[in-house]
Amino acid sequence: MTDQLTAELARDIGKARGTDYFVMKDQLSEDELDLLYTTRTFGEAEIQPVINDYWERGEFPFEIIPKMAELNLIGDWNLRDFGCRPMTAVGSGLIVAELARNDTSIQTFWGVHMGLAMQSINMLGSEEQRAHYLPQMARLEKIGAFALTEPNHGSDSVSLETTAERQGGEWVINGLKRWPGNAVWCDYIIVFARDVDDKQVKGFIVERDNPGYSATKIERKVSLRCVQNADIVLKDCRVSEEARLQKCRSFMDVAKVLAGTRNGVAWAAVGNATAAYDIALTYAERRVQFGKPIASNQMIQRILVEMLGDLTAMQLYVLRLGRLIDEGKMTDTQASLAKYYCTVKARDVCRKARDVLGGNGITLDFHVMRHLCDMEALITYEGTVEIQSLIIGRHLTGHSAFV
Ligand SMILES: Cc1cc2nc3c(=O)[nH]c(=O)nc-3n(C[C@H](O)[C@H](O)[C@H](O)COP(=O)(O)OP(=O)(O)OC[C@H]3O[C@@H](n4cnc5c(N)ncnc54)[C@H](O)[C@@H]3O)c2cc1C
Repeated sequence: MTDQLTAELARDIGKARGTDYFVMKDQLSEDELDLLYTTRTFGEAEIQPVINDYWERGEFPFEIIPKMAELNLIGDWNLRDFGCRPMTAVGSGLIVAELARNDTSIQTFWGVHMGLAMQSINMLGSEEQRAHYLPQMARLEKIGAFALTEPNHGSDSVSLETTAERQGGEWVINGLKRWPGNAVWCDYIIVFARDVDDKQVKGFIVERDNPGYSATKIERKVSLRCVQNADIVLKDCRVSEEARLQKCRSFMDVAKVLAGTRNGVAWAAVGNATAAYDIALTYAERRVQFGKPIASNQMIQRILVEMLGDLTAMQLYVLRLGRLIDEGKMTDTQASLAKYYCTVKARDVCRKARDVLGGNGITLDFHVMRHLCDMEALITYEGTVEIQSLIIGRHLTGHSAFV
């Protein structure tokens, strides 16, 4: 029975049927629908069949990068030139959600490369830097990483200790970074460091083969196992003034990049919840106990309804947030609320899906455990639930509760 069920589910799972209960697709333009279905088709063909094995081994499926490049999907509402594909914020979010529906490690690779590294260059780089770096990154020929967090400064990365000292036409960077995704194997790492002179945070484009840069893979993670996160040592790492992000003048500029990517994390949460709900519904219809499909059980139906309610609310959140970005109206705290709400709800949806699947819920074969484990990272990165709450709470009340 289980073998048959596994085979049937392997065929049916991930078709995202019944996951658009409020017919959100009617709100999408032709171009947005094209991005959605292109990514969906790609994910089902290229990611879904192979990802569990990679996840189990803790390896990244490098062979999918050239295939992703062929899709020409790199772009965003503000990333429209230099070979990037012009698209709305909603279009960009749909790509993220569809990648995450298949696998959040792949979506994180995408988010770090496009949302953090390319956007840092796009938003904080000079025209020359944008023209030099963005085309090769849009073609996925060169891959980026983003190094802000340090071993002693995560939530308070504003207090980062990595130093940058100007010596003639060069900068000398010293310090430690922890967690950056892609950083073990990528080409360019955006490193944030404090200028010893004016004490402000500045950004630098460091090439991975710089002799002052070394990155060691963080092993034994049980979330986002395909993402190669790194412990980084910057020791007398010399970069030219041309490699300094010319418009990054303080931590406030870094925060502008992070506001955009919080929106991306919210979309990624929607992708995880979509997968989990879809799998749980399919499983409940097929799994027979006490002579009936478990879907005919009142308690299972209640769980499915709760999951669908949360998923639908999340979809409304991100769609509206995306439109606010496209209209130039999104505020930082709106992005924080979406990140907070969608990640908390998506983790809950994944946990419920795991319950619906019983013992099979903890195997990789049925995917939901991978989504649940990966949601733990989405809860944390780009600002934890607690930090988002403090940011939103300060805005609501006018009182800062940061201690
Ligand atoms: C898988 C993964 C990928 C990542 N990728 C990147 C990357 O590409 N680049 C990068 O620069 N960083 C990256 N990060 C780092 C990430 O942004 C940090 O992990 C995150 O900001 C939290 O920092 P921390 O882990 O040091 O936790 P801490 O800051 O030590 O927090 C620990 C706990 O304390 C809580 N806490 C902290 N301060 C307060 C307070 N004032 N009030 C109440 N509660 C508080 C937190 O909410 C959390 O629950 C990644 C992290 C992970 C796990």
